Amino acid sequence: MRALTFVPGGKDTLEVREVPDPEPRQGELLVQGLALGICGTDRELVQGDYGWPPPGEERMVIGHESLGRVLRAPDGSAFSPGDLVAGVVRRPDPEPCGACRRGEFDMCRNGRYTERGIKELDGFGSELWTIEAAYAVRVDPALDTLGVLVEPASVVAKAWEQIERIGARAWFEPRTLLVTGAGPIGLLAALLGRQRGLETHVLDRSPPGLKSSLVEELGGIYHSSSTLEDFQRAKPDIIIECTGAGQLVIDSLTTTAAVGIVCLCGLAPGGRAHRVDAGVINRDIVLENDVVFGTVNANLRHFRAAAEALARADRRWLERLITRRVPLTRALEAFEPAKDVKAVIDLTA
Ligand code: BGC
Repeated sequence: MRALTFVPGGKDTLEVREVPDPEPRQGELLVQGLALGICGTDRELVQGDYGWPPPGEERMVIGHESLGRVLRAPDGSAFSPGDLVAGVVRRPDPEPCGACRRGEFDMCRNGRYTERGIKELDGFGSELWTIEAAYAVRVDPALDTLGVLVEPASVVAKAWEQIERIGARAWFEPRTLLVTGAGPIGLLAALLGRQRGLETHVLDRSPPGLKSSLVEELGGIYHSSSTLEDFQRAKPDIIIECTGAGQLVIDSLTTTAAVGIVCLCGLAPGGRAHRVDAGVINRDIVLENDVVFGTVNANLRHFRAAAEALARADRRWLERLITRRVPLTRALEAFEPAKDVKAVIDLTA
């Protein structure tokens, strides 16, 4: 079979190679890979900035945003041939820590977890892949290849679950949401915000175009020429920061309404210093009972919530998030710097 492989830590090593077909072990499904989504993490992986190969291997199959069709399922599993599935990315650490032992491996304490296509486990970028039935998530057949959005949506479903759990510390009836960044994560965060009935603002540098129309179709408000200062008067109850841009991260800390929540989803590159008035930030957070938290990855519960949220969404809207589809034969094009929203590789072509 063909697989999209790379050498973690190396540069320009990504290529489609012939590799042996995988053999499902006990309790595993054999899956035909249909689609693979590419995100910023994948681009970092192929630049050699991130990623760890399986022990004893040099190359690794890339890909953690998966969609496939079950070819073979073990007797007694909840799956049958023909089912559409997405794979959970992370596996608990071998020790395991208290969180991993409870299925909350997205909150792993000792960092010894593994991740398909990222850390020590082959990913889903191949014509066939296997997965433990316990880590496969059923995708509504009506979603078809849009099921490839389950993984990025799982990251957002986790963010929302955490926001709601934090909110439950006291009376919590949020009205307004600000999302910074209208990439796939920001737009999916806005979708889930609208599904919760929130007045949703999305801030992004892109001039009006596809992103603004996607936000407006959700019933949200798009801001391309605003800064966070413009939200200082009408402060949002919740900010979901999806850019990782240093100044936005800093400004978000003082831009929520009282008892506000800032959820950091974006990743900033290091090495760029910013001047901050720590006293202002400190006073704002303390005197307003604010919470700032970071979130990464997602567990099985979040994958299921994501699959449900996508099944409830407008398919035409989801379709427009996928702005580039390339066949596996031209897979490298999907890793070129993203001018679009989401690039997806068709593993069947
Ligand atoms: C993935 C997460 C993963 C993280 C760090 C993200 O792109 O969506 O599942 O935990 O990268 O490896």
